[in-house]
Amino acid sequence: MATAPKLDLMADQGRTIDPAEEAAFLDAIDRWLERRVIPVVMHHDHNDIWPAELVAEMAEMGLFGATIGQQYGGLGLPATTYAKIVMKISSYWMAITGIFNSHLIMAAAVERFGTPEQKAKWLPKFATGEIRGGLALTEPNAGTDLQAIRTVARRDGDHYVINGTKTWISNALNGSCFALLVKTDPDASPRYKGMSLFIADKRDGFTTGKKFDKLGYKSIDSAELVFQDYRAPADQLIGGVEGQGFFQATGGLELGRINVAARGVGLSEGSLRLATQYAQERHTMGKPIAEHQAIQLKLGEMVTRARAARLLTLDAAEAYDRGDRCDMEAGMAKYFASEAAVENSQEAMRIYGGYSYSKEYDIERYYRDSLLMCIGEGTNEMQRMIIAKQWLKMNPA
Ligand SMILES: Cc1cc2nc3c(=O)[nH]c(=O)nc-3n(C[C@H](O)[C@H](O)[C@H](O)COP(=O)(O)OP(=O)(O)OC[C@H]3O[C@@H](n4cnc5c(N)ncnc54)[C@H](O)[C@@H]3O)c2cc1C
Repeated sequence: MATAPKLDLMADQGRTIDPAEEAAFLDAIDRWLERRVIPVVMHHDHNDIWPAELVAEMAEMGLFGATIGQQYGGLGLPATTYAKIVMKISSYWMAITGIFNSHLIMAAAVERFGTPEQKAKWLPKFATGEIRGGLALTEPNAGTDLQAIRTVARRDGDHYVINGTKTWISNALNGSCFALLVKTDPDASPRYKGMSLFIADKRDGFTTGKKFDKLGYKSIDSAELVFQDYRAPADQLIGGVEGQGFFQATGGLELGRINVAARGVGLSEGSLRLATQYAQERHTMGKPIAEHQAIQLKLGEMVTRARAARLLTLDAAEAYDRGDRCDMEAGMAKYFASEAAVENSQEAMRIYGGYSYSKEYDIERYYRDSLLMCIGEGTNEMQRMIIAKQWLKMNPA
């Protein structure tokens, strides 16, 4: 079993916000959604168009620096406020949250584990969105089993020469910089001791593959990153010490899981909102279908699931902001909220009947997008096993 080296996992914990300031920020997000996002979501999603104008507006609102500390030009938001923003946006269009969320996971790795020079150099540019990117862990042969990655970095003077391929990387084409997980010692035993994390900016030796044609999560680009004799300056090794990459890459998982949970909450609540409206407008047998008991049973379950998902997610985020250990809470929130998103979107599809199958209605997007939530930040199969293991450890016989 791997044990974590001493790392500053708490760098972004203990944050608070004035409730009035939080409410004002959330109001601004509401207005932006109404005026700018809702009118264009269907066109962008159906045509898989990267929303350049919305990305510029997200940068103006500070979303690319939402969780980056204020000393680096970010908003320094607590996890609870960030989760509420993600819930709100995801209740209309989950995919665009991925554009700043993957970027913020990269930024968190630098903020928590980077050297003072790395933080000073990279974080201000990440915070404004001048440099945007994401997290590059997964490889064609290794997703869940991250320690099986094959990308290798070999020291060569004041550089590392990196060779390998990453796949399924969010923001691959439109981003210019990634937190890249590699092996600096492929023969290390245990395997995690040979892993390191680099800040990899696009330059010679770093190319991208074709944009993947996905079921959902449209408009945000996912593709391969290919490294062929890519020379990374040694000062781009995060933290400056080899062998810490596995913990640096997985050290942000609590916040990552709270973020995916928040997306799940947004999808659950959005599906509920659409189904509630449709059920009151659609009539059969002389009355709105909302008055049929079969539909009421569905709505009753959906509203309960959405509420439970929200409460579990805020519970984990509040624990995170207090600086408490919350890996199990974040895991439970991620698991429950992502399953709630799938179930609520499927139930909403049934309430819409035949129209659910038409791309003229929004609900089919919620169904397509929700399925991803069960895969990212640790699959839900792994999530349940991790929750159970932690629970058993806390409750020895
Ligand atoms: C749209 C999209 C965006 C993504 N964005 C990114 C990104 O930005 N950066 C990035 O690095 N990756 C990204 N990923 C990759 C994602 O993180 C992986 O797909 C995920 O980690 C699962 O890995 P895998 O696909 O290799 O599945 P596998 O690891 O092959 O798993 C296959 C199945 O086996 C199960 N399984 C595996 N091991 C075990 C075990 N030990 N016990 C029980 N069950 C097990 C899994 O739960 C799953 O059901 C993205 C994926 C998608 C689809």
